[in-house]
Amino acid sequence: MTTPCIISVAITGSVPHKKDNPAVPITVAEQIESTQESFEAGATLVHLHVRNEDGTTSSDPERFARALEGIRKHCPGIITQVSTGGRSGTGHERGGMLSLRPDMASLATGSVNFPTRVYENAPELVDWLAAEMIQYDIKPEVEAFDLSMIFQAVKMAQDGRIKAPLHVQFVMGVKNAMPVDRETFVFYVETLKRLAPDATWTGAGIGGGQLKLANWSLEFGGHCRTGLEDNIRLDKEQLAPSNAALVKQVAELCAQYGRRPATVAEARKLLSLPTAA
Ligand code: ZN
Repeated sequence: MTTPCIISVAITGSVPHKKDNPAVPITVAEQIESTQESFEAGATLVHLHVRNEDGTTSSDPERFARALEGIRKHCPGIITQVSTGGRSGTGHERGGMLSLRPDMASLATGSVNFPTRVYENAPELVDWLAAEMIQYDIKPEVEAFDLSMIFQAVKMAQDGRIKAPLHVQFVMGVKNAMPVDRETFVFYVETLKRLAPDATWTGAGIGGGQLKLANWSLEFGGHCRTGLEDNIRLDKEQLAPSNAALVKQVAELCAQYGRRPATVAEARKLLSLPTAA
């Protein structure tokens, strides 16, 4: 039997706005509703950034708390993952919401160029975020924007600085970082398997690469991330009408590879997370 696919939905992010696609959920109420629709369409993990009412990015733990509370209530068992990415504040502000004890949090294990800035993750900050995650019993999703970050994550797991077994997300298609390249993707998969045989992984493609990464991830036995944070279009012609529409696209793709979307219980088991309370 093949492994069921955990579909992650990155509902909001820090870049897309209503002007790019009116379906991007900005307010906490919109975020809860969009997550619930995505959950009903087959998503079992939500990746969360929060915004201020004017759409600018926020690092306010209170806003994270309200979003998490609503999501947990309306999507029983869904895996909650907060972003500690560079736009949710600077320095230690980036981990201000970890005390809310989401199931997971994103963790970039190195620095990389982004479209218009450096995504800066100095060793001290990476170690501090990792230690906070250990303290609050949070499993990281390592965001691998290049190969060095995979090696760094393996080392951190071996040293007990992050929870094992490792979960890594291969991110491709960010301008100025790693492009959407199949040979490299396959090398990532093989390298992770060689270094950390018990690790799990997800493929995340940006923009037009989103569906390509979903196809490759399904083919190679990994998990998929979709959502308006990474891509606002359903295809070349049309904007995605919702996060749920993007989730549905991946859910329907699973069968082509003999896969199916995981249930929340399966997703938690695959990631070695406790069953939902
Ligand atoms: Zn994010």
